[in-house]
Amino acid sequence: MARPVSYNINQKKLESDISMGTSPDGYPGEGFFAAKLSDVIGLARKNSIWPLPFATSCCGIEFMATMGSHYDLARFGSERVGFSPRQCDLLMVMGTIAKKMGPVVKQVYLQMAEPRWVIAVGACASSGGIFDTYSVLQGIDQVVPVDVYVPGCPPRPEAILDGFMKIQDLVGKESLRRRNSDEYNNLMKSYGIQ
Ligand code: SF4
Repeated sequence: MARPVSYNINQKKLESDISMGTSPDGYPGEGFFAAKLSDVIGLARKNSIWPLPFATSCCGIEFMATMGSHYDLARFGSERVGFSPRQCDLLMVMGTIAKKMGPVVKQVYLQMAEPRWVIAVGACASSGGIFDTYSVLQGIDQVVPVDVYVPGCPPRPEAILDGFMKIQDLVGKESLRRRNSDEYNNLMKSYGIQ
């Protein structure tokens, strides 16, 4: 049975459903709007995240559903999924990561330009999941820093979208100076990244 889709049917409802991006705090006036540069850049960044899906197993299928028309990740300005690390700013790791694969995940992360963010999607990427074995990495945060963890085995597309929106919050509020801070540099050093 087809799932009910309640939007994009009634023109009146459509108009009320479509909203513009929320403008940052600032000072509006006639013909001008003054706001913090970091807020404006955060607004642009959070609505144009380009994900790199690193999918190794079942959670990747949930991501495919998330990209599909029903869940429609494109609503967030993220329809441009890329497989070139140099053109992406969000690494989405989905699936079981074997220890042999760990250095590959790290290499992909290193090839991404700053600022970059990481989501661990599902139990396997977050903690190894049910695979408490000699061969499986017990969480990708052993090789790269993770910003958001999405629980579930597998997480439903709604959960992936929820994790994605949490990343948007982080991206929108991030200070332009964060990547130069001692705290961030120390975090990178703890992963052996200069
Ligand atoms: S968390 Fe579950 S669904 Fe996702 S990759 Fe692991 S075993 Fe598969």
